[in-house]
Amino acid sequence: MRTGELGFWWRSLGGAPGPRAPLPGPTEADVAIVGAGYTGLWSAYYLKRAQPSLRVVVLEREVAGFGASGRNGGWVSGFFSGPSRVYERRGGRDGFLAMQRTMFETVDEVARVIAEHGIEADLVKDGHLSVALNGAQRQRQREEVSHARRLGLDEHDLRELSAELLAARVRVAGARGATFSPHVARVHPVKLLLGLAALVEALGVPIYEDTAVTEIAPHRALTRRGAVAARWVVRATEGYTADLRGLKRALVPMNSSMIITEPLAPAVWEQIGWSGREVLGDGAHAYVYLQRTEDGRIAIGGRGVPYRFASRTDGRGETAPATVESLRAKLHSMFPATAEVAVEHAWSGVLGVPRDWCISVDADPDRGIAWAGGYVGEGVAAANLAGRTIRDLIIEQPSPLTRLPWVGRHPARWEPEPLRWAAIHGVYSLYRRADRREQRSDRPSLLGRLVDAASGRT
Ligand SMILES: Cc1cc2nc3c(=O)[nH]c(=O)nc-3n(C[C@H](O)[C@H](O)[C@H](O)COP(=O)(O)OP(=O)(O)OC[C@H]3O[C@@H](n4cnc5c(N)ncnc54)[C@H](O)[C@@H]3O)c2cc1C
Repeated sequence: MRTGELGFWWRSLGGAPGPRAPLPGPTEADVAIVGAGYTGLWSAYYLKRAQPSLRVVVLEREVAGFGASGRNGGWVSGFFSGPSRVYERRGGRDGFLAMQRTMFETVDEVARVIAEHGIEADLVKDGHLSVALNGAQRQRQREEVSHARRLGLDEHDLRELSAELLAARVRVAGARGATFSPHVARVHPVKLLLGLAALVEALGVPIYEDTAVTEIAPHRALTRRGAVAARWVVRATEGYTADLRGLKRALVPMNSSMIITEPLAPAVWEQIGWSGREVLGDGAHAYVYLQRTEDGRIAIGGRGVPYRFASRTDGRGETAPATVESLRAKLHSMFPATAEVAVEHAWSGVLGVPRDWCISVDADPDRGIAWAGGYVGEGVAAANLAGRTIRDLIIEQPSPLTRLPWVGRHPARWEPEPLRWAAIHGVYSLYRRADRREQRSDRPSLLGRLVDAASGRT
């Protein structure tokens, strides 16, 4: 199996387990789930737990965890993508707040389920530090905290830390301070994925691998191995959705790349601090995300080549040398003590980005099609909430989850090419330019704000 290309998380476990059997032929089910990432697997899990008699099958083009769920940074984050105003337009401030609180609880729900089933996934909930690396980032963080207060979040949800308080936890070169939120856990992404897949199989759900769905039609998932006729088909294909007939412009596949170091020597950790398991990021427009792994490495990721023309996906996870170099340089600048530490592995994956950068979930009973996603870079926890919401929608059990403002949203489609390519590349190159300006001037750049407004990202 191509575990090297799938990334370090697989390699750390000795590679992917043997492939599962493909769909044997045309079949019937109550629910056919397309995609064996976190969204598909959590949906299967909650559906089976709610109604054990349901016949649920999972159809996966490659292997379970081939997508972003097997390649991510391992932040189980209680935050989610997109500007609050988009959710507020549907549910008002109360609706947004209900959704935010539910997402915070979702981090604990993930921890609860894996504890219940004895899944060992290195999950530790020590929170999230967003580090300001210059005055501009510091000012933006202050604005974020004020915005959070206006939305009804308090200091137990998100608060500022001075440079001194940050240094007591982790020493990041040049840091001006940080924000801290307790609502984020760290996990080993593939341990979580494999544990979930095994759990779902133990509940009696077959996962058919090497089974590409070519089209999702009302009450049917079509594959070259035969169609699955089902009361419900759940689309859980995230960054690969554009490959499905009729969905070319629904979600843009955007790349994110990661590198991971060898285990750091105790003397290096001594210089860095970071004795907790907080996940860490910076406040740049083109930000990076880091985790300290259970075996004492640092994994750091960021946007590499953000997007390929015509929504093509780089399924094999190859990473451009320039991307590896820029992540390595960022690691060294944040932690000079890592200058001699070897980088052991690099990989990339694709995430799904909707036109308005906001997540959505829905189920259409007439066509028997449900879907969830558009998580951008924050889908590890959100996929769990998606699974529970899809359960409630499919078994027609109205609940507080089905009233949240991400339910029933239908984001606009992306522009056709070449506009799509030009817009996304434009956004990321302007963000990088804004970051460079902010590093020089120490003040928030107007360019960054303009790009935020034009792209609708914040
Ligand atoms: C490098 C990277 C780092 C990230 N870091 C974080 C992070 O730290 N925290 C966070 O919250 N989020 C992070 N994300 C995002 C997060 O990983 C995703 O949002 C989440 O895993 C999405 O899960 P999913 O199941 O919806 O999609 P995926 O995991 O992508 O699964 C989709 C599955 O569908 C299959 N599939 C696609 N098309 C078909 C088809 N036609 N037929 C059958 N099967 C098909 C694919 O092979 C794949 O297995 C990161 C993403 C990347 C790429």
